[in-house]
Amino acid sequence: MHFKYVVVGAGLAGLTFAERIANELDERVLVIERRGHIGGNVYDSYNDAGILIHNYGPHIFHTNDREVYQYLSRFTRWNDFWHRVLTYVDGNLVPMPISVETINKLYNLNLSCFEVEQFLEKRAVDIKEIKTSKDVALSKVGQDIYEKIFENYTKKQWGVDPAQLDTSVISRIPVRLNRDTRYFSDKYQGMPSRGYTGMCENMAASKNIKILLNTDYREVMKDISYDKLIYTGAPDEFYGYKYGRLAYRSINFMFETHDMEEYQEAPVVNYPNDYDFTRITEFKKLTGQKHGKTTICKEFPCDEGEPYYPFPTGEHKAQFALYKKDMEKEPNIIFIGRLAQYRYYNMDGVVRAALDAFADMCK
Ligand SMILES: Cc1cc2nc3c(=O)[nH]c(=O)nc-3n(C[C@H](O)[C@H](O)[C@H](O)COP(=O)(O)OP(=O)(O)OC[C@H]3O[C@@H](n4cnc5c(N)ncnc54)[C@H](O)[C@@H]3O)c2cc1C
Repeated sequence: MHFKYVVVGAGLAGLTFAERIANELDERVLVIERRGHIGGNVYDSYNDAGILIHNYGPHIFHTNDREVYQYLSRFTRWNDFWHRVLTYVDGNLVPMPISVETINKLYNLNLSCFEVEQFLEKRAVDIKEIKTSKDVALSKVGQDIYEKIFENYTKKQWGVDPAQLDTSVISRIPVRLNRDTRYFSDKYQGMPSRGYTGMCENMAASKNIKILLNTDYREVMKDISYDKLIYTGAPDEFYGYKYGRLAYRSINFMFETHDMEEYQEAPVVNYPNDYDFTRITEFKKLTGQKHGKTTICKEFPCDEGEPYYPFPTGEHKAQFALYKKDMEKEPNIIFIGRLAQYRYYNMDGVVRAALDAFADMCK
């Protein structure tokens, strides 16, 4: 069977591409998805208790990219939502990212914004050449806060010392010299009012889009020809692991439903130094759902399992570069998304990348 366009993967990258092909080009497109649902990692669903959960961990939409926000707003309305995260340190819950409130609570002080700036300046370590995530944290907040907040959390999350990870991991956490305790400061933030799955269903609603679920593309490609393939899966898998397996970090999500209305003070609470899990999410606090019970999720990072986070070390990036060279030699294949490009993308970044790649394809 021939399709002009075939998309592998029904995550946000694949669906954005398919939607554009179907609605902008008015062409038919086949989407092949290994899982039993669309949406990729943004998939959400109601559990047995009737509570809406994010099956692959908490997802909060936030962006400064107006075009991406407007694009997704065609498929969903948004509930207002300002994300908040607390971190459990020395028996206290302190706001993240680090702000004036965090420092005052951590050290039982009552400093002004200006005094906190001086406090951090005094503690910041002068590092000539910042090469690792440990360097980033030490140079921003100094040894004590590094140990209290970043060191063990990062070890749990990645399974290695922050000194072995490149700067991208910790530089994503801002330090605020004000009293703003919102987790993100982006201009547009929100939760899709019918959930992410509802938004994705609307993206895929065109009659031009055919979706094959529960199907690994390798099972069917011998029977399908195409003019253009949009591939959002992992590159090592695509090339039969010829340069070895790319390393990804995975997570075991452990869901618990409790017979109580509220479990914790914030949607997400981080546990850098206690327990084996990194954080607990309470979904009702993300979605705003009213329910007599509540569902939480504990995250246990691990090496084996679904590939969630590309491993940010020089060695693995070099390995990906070998695959990338091969990918660049494929004129009929577009590799897009967090797996295919082996990079950490937020939702807005992945939609932006897909919209740009679609525009390039149409040139
Ligand atoms: C725990 C966690 C929390 C996150 N929180 C946030 C957040 O709060 N805010 C935010 O903006 N972003 C967040 N993200 C990032 C967000 O999930 C991604 O940006 C987005 O889902 C990436 O979309 P994608 O289409 O590139 O990849 P995916 O969602 O992974 O989709 C790829 C799809 O391809 C399918 N596939 C792969 N190989 C094959 C194959 N061989 N055959 C058929 N199908 C295949 C997969 O099954 C998958 O469904 C989070 C990510 C994780 C892991």
